[in-house]
Amino acid sequence: MSHPAASVPAPSDGDAIVFVDLAAQQARIEPEVNARIAAVLAHRRFINGPEISELETELARRAGVGHCVAVGSGTDALLVALLAHGIGPGDAVFVPAFTYMASANAVILTGATPVFVDIDPARLTIDPDDLERRLSQVRAAGTLTARALMPVDLFGLPADYDRLDDIARRNALFMLVDAAQSFGARLNDRPVGCFGDATAASFFPSKPLGCYGDGGALFTNDAVRASRWRSLRHHGIGEDAMSSEHVGLNARLDSLQAAVLLAKLGIFDSELEARERVAQRYDARLTDVVQATAPRCPAAQSAWASYAVQVPRRDDVAAALKAVGVPTAVYYPHPLHLQPAYRRYAGDALPVAEAVSRSILNLPIHPYLAPGAIDRICDSLDAAISG
Ligand SMILES: *Cc1c(COP(=O)(O)O)cnc(C)c1O
Repeated sequence: MSHPAASVPAPSDGDAIVFVDLAAQQARIEPEVNARIAAVLAHRRFINGPEISELETELARRAGVGHCVAVGSGTDALLVALLAHGIGPGDAVFVPAFTYMASANAVILTGATPVFVDIDPARLTIDPDDLERRLSQVRAAGTLTARALMPVDLFGLPADYDRLDDIARRNALFMLVDAAQSFGARLNDRPVGCFGDATAASFFPSKPLGCYGDGGALFTNDAVRASRWRSLRHHGIGEDAMSSEHVGLNARLDSLQAAVLLAKLGIFDSELEARERVAQRYDARLTDVVQATAPRCPAAQSAWASYAVQVPRRDDVAAALKAVGVPTAVYYPHPLHLQPAYRRYAGDALPVAEAVSRSILNLPIHPYLAPGAIDRICDSLDAAISG
C-alpha cells in the first residue's frame, strides 16, 4: 500500500474558508482510502473483518494501553463502558455541565443520575473544586450513591487528570474519560487513552480523527473490563456466539469504517502538528483582540478539535463574520442543566458554564487552514468586535 506524503500540502490562500475541510484531507489520502475500501469489498467480512483487530492494535499502541475495543460511535463507547461497570438506577455520575449532550445521554440511558458540575474558567473542563462540592452534596443528601466521574476533554484539551485521579481514588469513583474530542492529545507527555479507568473516543467525521460515518473506541488496561466490552458491543454473547451472557447491544464498528481510519492514521500525526500550528497563529493574532483565546495548559498538547475564543456580544460578532464569509459555530449555546431534556437533574446555578455559553465562539480549525485564511479570519474578528 502506498504511503501518503508526510507533510501537509500548502492550500492556496484565496480559497473560501470552510469550518472543517474534509475535502482537502480526502484528496491527500484518496489512493490509500480506496485501496483499503477495495480490500473490504474483496473479503466481504463487513462486520468483524480483519481491519477491526488491526485498528484496535494500532489505537491501543497510540493510547499506550493494553486494550482497545472498537465500537459504533462515541456514544456507544460511553454507554457500553457505563453498563459494563454496572452503573444504573440510584447511581450518581458526575458530568461537566458544559459539554455535548451525548455525555449526559449515556448516563441517563443506564438509569443513573447525572450530577452536573461547573467548569474551570481557564481550561473549560470539569472544575475539581466544584466536583468536591457536588460530591459532598450527594453524600449529605443520601439518596444517590456517588459511583462514577466522567470528565470531558473539551475542544481536545485534556482535563486536569492530576487532580481528578486523586479525587476519584479518594472517593472510589469509576473514572470514564469522554475523549470524544481529544484522541491524539497528550498530558504530562502521556497520550489520551491512558487516563482514568476507561476512555471513550469518537470517530464522527468532524472529530480530529474521523471516519466516513459513525465510529468510536474504548481504551483500558484491564483485560476483564475489555472482554466485557467485547461482549456488550455484540449483544452480550459469551464464549459461544449463541449464548447470552449479558444484556448487550449492537454497538460494533464496521470493517469499512475501520479501513478508513487505518488510512487516516497514516497522516494523523502530521495533521495534529498542523492543527497546533493553526492554533499558535490564532493565539499570536488574537491575544489582544478577544476576551479569552482558546484554552491551553502548559503540561498538555491539545488535539484541537475546536479553537474556541470568548467575545462580547457573541451573536452579533458571529453574524458580522458570517456576512464576510467567515463561518463560525457556537459550542455550546446552552449548558446541559438548562436544556429541556436535563432540567429535572439541575441543582444550583453553575455560573462559569452559564457565562461561557454566552461568550464562546468557535472559529474554523483544520489541518489545511492556510496562514492567509487565518489572518483573514483574525482581521474580520477584530473588525467585528470593534465595530
Ligand atoms: C461527539 C461527542 C460525543 C458523541 O460521539 P458520537 O460519536 O457522535 O456518538 C460525546 N461526547 C462529546 C464531548 C462529543 O463531542
